[in-house]
Amino acid sequence: MDAGVPARRRREMAAAVSGAGRCRLSKVGAGRRPPPARVRVAVRLRPFVDGTAGENDTPCVRGLDSCSLEIANWRNHQETLKYQFDAFYGERSSQQDIYAGSVQPILRHLLEGQNASVLAYGPTGAGKTHTMLGSPEQPGVIPRALMDLLQLTREEGAEGRPWALSVTMSYLEIYQEKVLDLLEPSSGDLVIREDCRGNILIPGLTQKPITSFADFERHFLPASRNRTVGATRLNQRSSRSHAVLLVKVDQRERLAPFRQREGKLYLIDLAGSEDNRRTGNKGLRLKESGAINTSLFVLGKVVDALNQGLPRVPYRDSKLTRLLQDSLGGSAHSILIANIAPERRFYLDTVSALNFAARSKEVINRPFTNESLQLPVLAPVKLSQKELLGPSEAKRARGPEEEETRSPELPVAPASASQKLSPLQKLSSMDPAMLERLLSLDRLLGSQGSQGTPLLSTPKRERMVLMKTVEEKDLEIERLKMKQKELEAKVLAQEAADPKEKENYSPTMLRPLARRTVTVAKPLKKAVVMPLQLIQEQAASPNAEIHILKKKSRKRKLESLDASQPEEKAEDGWELQISPELLAHGRQKILDLLNEGSARDLRSLQRIGQKKAQLIVGWRELHGPFSQVEDLERVEGISGKQMESFLKANILGLAAGQGCGPS
Ligand code: ADP
Ligand code: MG
Repeated sequence: MDAGVPARRRREMAAAVSGAGRCRLSKVGAGRRPPPARVRVAVRLRPFVDGTAGENDTPCVRGLDSCSLEIANWRNHQETLKYQFDAFYGERSSQQDIYAGSVQPILRHLLEGQNASVLAYGPTGAGKTHTMLGSPEQPGVIPRALMDLLQLTREEGAEGRPWALSVTMSYLEIYQEKVLDLLEPSSGDLVIREDCRGNILIPGLTQKPITSFADFERHFLPASRNRTVGATRLNQRSSRSHAVLLVKVDQRERLAPFRQREGKLYLIDLAGSEDNRRTGNKGLRLKESGAINTSLFVLGKVVDALNQGLPRVPYRDSKLTRLLQDSLGGSAHSILIANIAPERRFYLDTVSALNFAARSKEVINRPFTNESLQLPVLAPVKLSQKELLGPSEAKRARGPEEEETRSPELPVAPASASQKLSPLQKLSSMDPAMLERLLSLDRLLGSQGSQGTPLLSTPKRERMVLMKTVEEKDLEIERLKMKQKELEAKVLAQEAADPKEKENYSPTMLRPLARRTVTVAKPLKKAVVMPLQLIQEQAASPNAEIHILKKKSRKRKLESLDASQPEEKAEDGWELQISPELLAHGRQKILDLLNEGSARDLRSLQRIGQKKAQLIVGWRELHGPFSQVEDLERVEGISGKQMESFLKANILGLAAGQGCGPS
């Protein structure tokens, strides 16, 4: 619906929604609370659209049945990945199919006083706006749902019926974590509040009463033009914000006891989920995308948490999910429509969208073939699969058609039963950067343990890495214990030789029985207890200097990296100067953790909680590895002010053998 829908078209639309897909809404089960509903997920694959199909372009994904699809496996062309959803709509499906199959059934719940939401997810250009809005010729979910709801409320609220019904609409966008009223753009960033009954509301948000579809269009069309849109290489009018249409159905009982009910429907065209580096976004665009992706990232977490029945759902971590708190999960009825495109250039974003939405995934041992496909020449291999995969996967992927053994120029015969080639095989030879991206996506998804599915990385590989880390840690602890014993024995021997020496310990020596905690109130005059590892460092490099300076004891507020949680800490009167070697070593360890640790591992760092850990993982996923620890300042929501104390605290923790290692 790009421009005003003519009256004739509206009649056709009305006919369309009242014909085959005639609204079968009814007020059933009013007052009865259904069990908590999970978020249903549908995937829609759009057809090739004019001008997007390249020469010899073949789809990289295809439907299997009404609930599942398969996509070529970038890791191994002998396999495909099969994904299962609540519904799958192929390239031939119509707007009516999607509406009648996945949206219309949830609308009736609005008249039961329950909430519902429909979210279109996917990369820019994959068909979100087409699905939600459509065109005058092919109206999408929004006009169809509005038509149905208005018709239903007219019928149900007619004179003589027990309830009087009214419908209002609001239209807002979330842009860079700001809530903007599209019906009143001058109102600025609006706040989201929760009332005592857990209802989410936005004070000051414009609400327009609507009684007809013409009313709706009168408000909606000009407001759509207020949307913040920017041009990216992928799509000239790519949307960089989440567009949220809110339709409220209010019901008042005409007779005693004059009950009231309210049902909210959110119809959301989410911002594109594509990768920044591929769209050539820079500067402000990159910042926008970062903010957008934080919201999408949290949305993924929320959907995961709801569908896995986790006790904590991180609604508050983004504006989008906070707004949807009472309409996603609980008694609300929600459907996420993941839009994907068939073109190979979308492959990476398609995999990422499917992983975001997948309920289950399995690896099928068969090549993704297209019998009519004639691959002329296999492109030269830039990075061998073996280099990219872990040893176990490399072994699994190894087969008679292994790339390294083939001459790059070797012409490939047309696909035959014995020599089937994936149209995606080129991916593994095309762009090492893309493969790196896939691997990092893989790691990210693995660290999230999204939906409990193995995702791209096999659980076995994750397990092996963890086990290896644990093993290394155990060895390190053993080694330290031995050294500790040696030192103790040395000191005891020294004491036995000269009992007077007892009074004059060098600050670098630990008294054998002084492993008890030193009380800050009565610090010993000379003896200083240092973390065990510091002693090892010193013993190993006698030139390394670690000074202990005495300071006046005082209490002060420590601003943590999470500015919202300032900590109060009593300083113990000692300040440790860290040797440059230890500092460099510690920085490297922290950097490794920032680049390789899962969200859980990151929480072992001091002052990094769950939220910060997620932000770090999200940032890393967006921007690639951190090149130095100070890059942390660039992570949205982390204040750089306390970087020095953050470093110190963590390096000390590391030296003391606490934290800073995968848990
Ligand atoms: P997005 O909103 O995800 O960026 P669009 O909805 O703008 O993507 O779709 C990109 C292009 O593809 C548009 O020209 C749109 O008309 C077309 N398109 C998307 N989905 C379909 C579909 N199912 N059938 C036909 N054309 C489609
Ligand atoms: Mg769009």
